Amino acid sequence: MSTTAIRSSQEYEDAYRAYYVEAAEEFRAVRVGEKETSEQAAIVARHADLFTQEQVEALRAAEAGASDPDERERLYRLRRTCEAGIVDAELAQREDELANALLAARLTFDGAEVPLRAAEAQLAVLPDYAKREELGELVRALDSSFNGQRRELLGARDDLETAISGERQAVARNEAEKQISLRELETVLRSASDAVTEEYRRLSGRWFERLLGPECDEVPTNAHVRWIRRLSPLESTYPKERSVEVCVETVRALGFELEAIPNIRLDLEDRPQKSPRACVIAADPPEVVHLITRAQGGVSDYQAFLHEAGHALHYAGCDPRLPWTFRAVSRDHALTEIYSYIVEAVSREPGWHALHFGLSDAEAEENADATRFLEALLFRRYAAKLRYELGFWDAFPKERGDASRDYETLLTTATGLRYDSRGYLADMDAGFYSADYLRAWIRAAQLSSYLRSELGEDWWRDSRTGEILRALFAEGTRPSSEDVAGRIGFDPLDTGPLVAELTRA
Ligand SMILES: [Zn+2]
Repeated sequence: MSTTAIRSSQEYEDAYRAYYVEAAEEFRAVRVGEKETSEQAAIVARHADLFTQEQVEALRAAEAGASDPDERERLYRLRRTCEAGIVDAELAQREDELANALLAARLTFDGAEVPLRAAEAQLAVLPDYAKREELGELVRALDSSFNGQRRELLGARDDLETAISGERQAVARNEAEKQISLRELETVLRSASDAVTEEYRRLSGRWFERLLGPECDEVPTNAHVRWIRRLSPLESTYPKERSVEVCVETVRALGFELEAIPNIRLDLEDRPQKSPRACVIAADPPEVVHLITRAQGGVSDYQAFLHEAGHALHYAGCDPRLPWTFRAVSRDHALTEIYSYIVEAVSREPGWHALHFGLSDAEAEENADATRFLEALLFRRYAAKLRYELGFWDAFPKERGDASRDYETLLTTATGLRYDSRGYLADMDAGFYSADYLRAWIRAAQLSSYLRSELGEDWWRDSRTGEILRALFAEGTRPSSEDVAGRIGFDPLDTGPLVAELTRA
């Protein structure tokens, strides 16, 4: 590589944006199954001059000299982006190898060769309990055969991040980035999780039996999670075919015309290699926002669609006059997850089930109860995950990710489903994403409590909700999740509304 000039912060933002669009589109193509192999490394190589130590220093100097807090924050995010790019460039080749190996991995089930990803998707729709157990074990065994590679990558990333930040402890690095105390958050969440234990036992006792049938073990394995999340036995109420129409209608009632927003590009197609997890890829917000789902039927389709619609509306709704950094780059994901959670929360309103699915009030109550069970299951799972991850990263300098520690115990106790220790690496998203989800859980419950008190019980079909959300979306990615708490009059760690929602107190 020839020597390149160091860019000013504005030139850097422009050049980084061009790279970001390209990388996002590549990620999308693989994710939706348009491409079989990921060539992220080639893209990073083409833009290698963006990610140099000299550029980091230039951005750091600009940051130190900025007196305006917004400008300082913008420069901080650009500098961190540059640093992350240096780390990613180092690891891109190996990350690609792992991603491609996972795409190519096959197992044999019922005499047929099945790609690992397709097998995971199949777990959501296999009606036979014992068959799900069998396939679940095959998936677990094959997936965990990549643990060696995962562990090496985690170690390599940790070393690079230590070198760049001068901070050995991953927890401290993430606390600085998120501007919160992860331990304080975990303590508060542990109490909230404990406060819903009794109600969760009641809900899970009832719904495990209804959803898994009489064969159900005392503690079923997590092979059934996708099946449970679809509320599969209630599937005929929530058919695959209606999910788009109902979700568009649901979002319309909040004051948003999803299909009339040209910036939101919908990908609803079914492709064999398309990941079953719905997602939004905001390639160039607010102009280009991809909303991707793969419908399989069941209430989780509707929930996933609504969740992603919340992200899409946020990114497509940000003020185009904001600097690009405040439209696309955030310190973490805790802010945008508030908006996905609040739109998804509509699916826990009994009235929503009655309105769209021709259910009696009693049936609607019953099904809303099931969605509350799912919510409590996921919340408790994430609270346990955060606790496990804190211990895992505290011990990382010594253990280098060698041990699954209390993963199995914590997750199993929290959910009532047996989480196998072999999943301890695959079940971990980078950068304490679990903490971002959990902050969003707290905040979305605060927000829905705020909307209820401002607009009444029908907040979920009131276009004034849209007006309130629009004002928040316009701020792009600039605010923190905790800033939003302040706007709606809550203490950031007040879990009262969340506990009340999960226990219907
Ligand atoms: Zn999300």
